[in-house]
Amino acid sequence: MRITNLNCSDDIGASSWMVEIENHRILLDCGCHPKRDGRETLPLLDQFKDAEVDAIAVSHCHHDHVGALPVAIRLFPKAHVLMTELSYCLVERVLHNSVNVMNRQRAESGQMDYPLYTHIELDGIAHLFQGFQYNREIEWAAFHKTRLLNKSPTLEFYDAGHALGSAGMMLRGTHENLFFTGDVSFRDQTILKGARFEGVKADVLIMETTRGNRIVPQGFTRESEIDRLARSIQSVIARRGCVLIPVFALGRTQEILALLALLMADGKVPKQPLYIGGLGRVFTDIYDAQIHRTHRNLSGMALSQSHNLMVVEKKQLENMKLRSDKIFVITAGMMTEHTAAHDLTARMVGDEKHGIFFVGYADPGTPGGRLKAAKHGETFLFSGSAGLVTKRCEVEDFDLTAHANRDELVEFVGKVSPKSVVLGHGEPESKAWFKEELSKRFPAINVLNPEPGQTLTV
Ligand SMILES: [Zn+2]
Ligand SMILES: [Zn+2]
Repeated sequence: MRITNLNCSDDIGASSWMVEIENHRILLDCGCHPKRDGRETLPLLDQFKDAEVDAIAVSHCHHDHVGALPVAIRLFPKAHVLMTELSYCLVERVLHNSVNVMNRQRAESGQMDYPLYTHIELDGIAHLFQGFQYNREIEWAAFHKTRLLNKSPTLEFYDAGHALGSAGMMLRGTHENLFFTGDVSFRDQTILKGARFEGVKADVLIMETTRGNRIVPQGFTRESEIDRLARSIQSVIARRGCVLIPVFALGRTQEILALLALLMADGKVPKQPLYIGGLGRVFTDIYDAQIHRTHRNLSGMALSQSHNLMVVEKKQLENMKLRSDKIFVITAGMMTEHTAAHDLTARMVGDEKHGIFFVGYADPGTPGGRLKAAKHGETFLFSGSAGLVTKRCEVEDFDLTAHANRDELVEFVGKVSPKSVVLGHGEPESKAWFKEELSKRFPAINVLNPEPGQTLTV
């Protein structure tokens, strides 16, 4: 089979892979690069602009995996568009929100490439989306081709435990197969149970490497990290400051709401309203509505009923007083410009009574990453629009990741025992760590790290 890395850069970037297997072609993921701008965010789809693509399959609905889907559909109009039934409940909301964000960026920073697609275009392609249950084999190749070749390769979604609807994907041909992890969490989170990748065997494994550059300290436990978060929130509230937890609307928001509900029930955080964004609220309702179809903990907990959720939008926040003890669980996780978390941070950062608590990854090149890196008391460039700020508030980082640790992924490679491993979705140093470690541990496995745009024959 042939595999092309369509990520436009060699960092985590946008997830997108073209796989050619037994005369059929399928695109796995079609994300946007979160740090780039305009058409530069897109995966390298043009390489295949005249090719026939039978199907597009999406691992989950985060922007870096699905944000460019309408552009791919425009290029490959005959492709079936496949996802899990839970992603099917989310995907249109995610993409319509992307249109809103792009329209705002066009208005605020004059990026004339935006929007890369429109609400009307989305409405016109929505009927192409198909949702499937986990662990069901789907034939995806074009009908006229399968008639010629007798058999279509299949696709099966495996629960990846990363966010609602997330999946690893197994591609099976007659003679060879491939497994793509997508983003994966092997351990339980507060709501979602860990990945169900048991029994996965494949000739080729495409793997995420997000945490390849991260060593988990000895004695670290998720429970102690949650206790530390509770104590930090409590001390901010005791000094009548505000707490900001920057999150992504899908996944992180719901995990943090569930965790806060448990902490409030235990008396570890005082009961009070939580301020969240409109999109976070929408996805929270979908999490609640899909409880029965989700492999999860706390199956009796409806998040929207466990909290007094106050929806606030960016505009309303501008006029909100930050004097009393408010808790904001608000987007974006990396504090990208033109988001509520970015604007709130610009207001909170200089006041030592406030607390800003990260619970996920923030790329060093984003406002969130720069805030994390700055020393206490340091004046630094937060963003183009907010300019220089001085870090005086409390800033902490809590490791409550939705990604597998590197040792867990190495162990997974051993279980899958592929002939080739293809490294993706990580910083260069993360991929370098995996290349070295996997080559040492499994000398018989071919470990590959394709450049952007590079095609491998495996
Ligand atoms: Zn993700
Ligand atoms: Zn991702």
